[in-house]
Amino acid sequence: MSSVKEKEEVLKREEEKDGSDDLFFSTQQVIKEALTKLGYRDEVFELLKEPIRMLTVRIPVKMDNGSIQIFTGFRSQHNDAVGPTKGGVRFHPEVTEEEVKALSIWMTLKCGITNLPYGGGKGGIICDPRKMSFGELERLSRGYVRAVSQIVGPTKDIPAPDVYTNSQIMAWMMDEYSRLREFDSPGFITGKPIVLGGSHGRETATARGVAICIAEALKTKNLRLQDARIVVQGFGNAGSFLAKFMHDAGAKVVGISDVHGGLYDPNGLDIPYLLDRRDSFGMISQLFQNTISNEELLELDCDILVPAAVSNQITAQNAHRIKASIIVEAANGPTTMEATNILTERGILLVPDILASAGGVTVSYFEWVQNNQGYYWSEEEVYGKLQRVMIDSFETVFETAQAHQVNMRMAAYMIGIRKTAEAARFRGWI
Ligand code: NAD
Repeated sequence: MSSVKEKEEVLKREEEKDGSDDLFFSTQQVIKEALTKLGYRDEVFELLKEPIRMLTVRIPVKMDNGSIQIFTGFRSQHNDAVGPTKGGVRFHPEVTEEEVKALSIWMTLKCGITNLPYGGGKGGIICDPRKMSFGELERLSRGYVRAVSQIVGPTKDIPAPDVYTNSQIMAWMMDEYSRLREFDSPGFITGKPIVLGGSHGRETATARGVAICIAEALKTKNLRLQDARIVVQGFGNAGSFLAKFMHDAGAKVVGISDVHGGLYDPNGLDIPYLLDRRDSFGMISQLFQNTISNEELLELDCDILVPAAVSNQITAQNAHRIKASIIVEAANGPTTMEATNILTERGILLVPDILASAGGVTVSYFEWVQNNQGYYWSEEEVYGKLQRVMIDSFETVFETAQAHQVNMRMAAYMIGIRKTAEAARFRGWI
């Protein structure tokens, strides 16, 4: 099977499991519960349950064959009480308004937990970039910026890469915005190439953030990384860098997987060898005869389980059989609420996605700060600052969970939403 075909299969399975309407509804329900626990009145929920601004745009693009195709795009700004909104733009055939709205709320929560001076934003265009030429993608990217330019900008709403968008697309978007404004505006967007004001350390930021959360979670259980057996589901950007960091730190990575299956060795897998052989879509298992299923992988005997692939992997069906004592979510939404409750009852420490995968937006913030200062940091400086943010965030969520006798997911929602609620209150909006 070709790599493009494999990626299509991966996305199809992810979509089948995602259910963006459910995602939006369940996010609203947890926010409601978090606000109630914090003692806020109903009107606060009324303000925060939906984005303050949602723009739908139609973008005409001249295709290579001379025809004109009209694409639909969205930009959702959940709330800007704290500061400008921030969040990626995804290019995908299955993008929906509901999904973009839900993802913008998750960005508010991530920025609240990491104490970044942003509200949440998100964008998307319904398109299939795998079937478009370089030139068509450039015209679509520039068209999107022209269409949303009134509501975005370095002090309003700062986009970034997401599913199927990358540093090249960020470069075109930044160039288009700079042309419209008639001055160079690197701080309009993050995730740019380094030569255009991108930050060192951004590519590995998510995995580094997850690795820091793992170290903190181990401390709470008086365990050492060197003694830990780790299973990572997914061997793409997040999963493969994480497996490398764990291996380099002396931990035993006993299981990894891709969409087709997993590899298991109780004595520890040769991660550098696997990294060398995986393809750019995170595929590796097909090179081996002895594989296990993803279902088996999740239930392996291990100390730490890191779902780093797709949503809805740990559900009420398999939560009873998970053997890890710590789960750190690198993927967005890998564990359902029902499963979260089962795992909590079983005493398993679950570090939720909105905390564990916040390393990406944190380094995006660093990129924006560097652009605003016109002064650029070394890789070491970026990592040092990321470490401080992630450790502080972990400690705050962990302590809130203890103080309110709730699990870390609820604590993360409480921390994440409180900053925006307070900012809105001080502004006199509620
Ligand atoms: P990726 O596309 O680079 O890799 C995904 C990996 O998961 C691949 O190895 C793929 O084969 C595997 N996979 C796909 N479907 C699977 C399935 N049904 N079962 C098992 N494995 C499957 O993606 P990524 O960038 O590493 O992102 C992974 C997850 O982390 C996503 O949920 C993403 O939203 C989340 N995340 C990523 C970042 C980031 O910076 N990359 C930031 C925040 C959150």
